[in-house]
Amino acid sequence: MSVTSNLKAVLKNIPSEVTLVAVSKTKPNEDILEAYDAGHRHFGENKVQDLVAKYETLPKDINWHFIGHLQTNKVKYIVPFAHLIHGIDSEKLLKEVNKRAKNANRIQPILLQIYIAEEESKFGLDRAEAFAIIEKIKNGDFPFIQLKGLMGMATNTDSEVQVAKEFKGLKNLFDEFNKTMLPISVLSMGMSGDYALAIECGSNLVRVGSKIFGERNYEGSKGY
Ligand SMILES: *Cc1c(COP(=O)(O)O)cnc(C)c1O
Repeated sequence: MSVTSNLKAVLKNIPSEVTLVAVSKTKPNEDILEAYDAGHRHFGENKVQDLVAKYETLPKDINWHFIGHLQTNKVKYIVPFAHLIHGIDSEKLLKEVNKRAKNANRIQPILLQIYIAEEESKFGLDRAEAFAIIEKIKNGDFPFIQLKGLMGMATNTDSEVQVAKEFKGLKNLFDEFNKTMLPISVLSMGMSGDYALAIECGSNLVRVGSKIFGERNYEGSKGY
């Protein structure tokens, strides 16, 4: 199967109002260009160095999503161009993004990453932490970021019941924040193995890698 046919197959399963981010981490520019030539413009990377290298060498109308765990000392490299940073999981990190966005003279769109899985290893905020950060955003403490929505990763399990429970929990939080705190529009949840379920549970942005580009050749397909 080629990247183009994989991409078309995934797009066929996705309603037009759902954004597909093609997760191109570890994959070469040729693969990305194949999807680009088929008309795709949203791509996701989880390593700052790779994202910067790909941004510099690929067409400038690509919308680059940073989906990994972002270290404070690397924020400055991606803020000048990142379309959306998905993994904001601390106030300290948000503060740094705000500062760098100010320097870069732009407003940086971001998502807050919410911890929804049962695994110990995943990053993210709990409800109270997210609430506190959104309060500060509302108060104008971070004028150079724009809160677009929430992102989450479900437990890596075969149990659809468990995954659906986690996705629905995040959707409820999204609805609550949207109603009572600030208008937000993006709910980023769902990967190759669970994107259809995520959409059923209310996702409107899915991050799909291996279903489009094939399996990756390294341990730890979540990228951590
Ligand atoms: C790698 C990755 C994906 C894509 O994973 P696939 O299972 O290959 O679709 C999605 N989201 C995040 C945060 C990732 O690191």
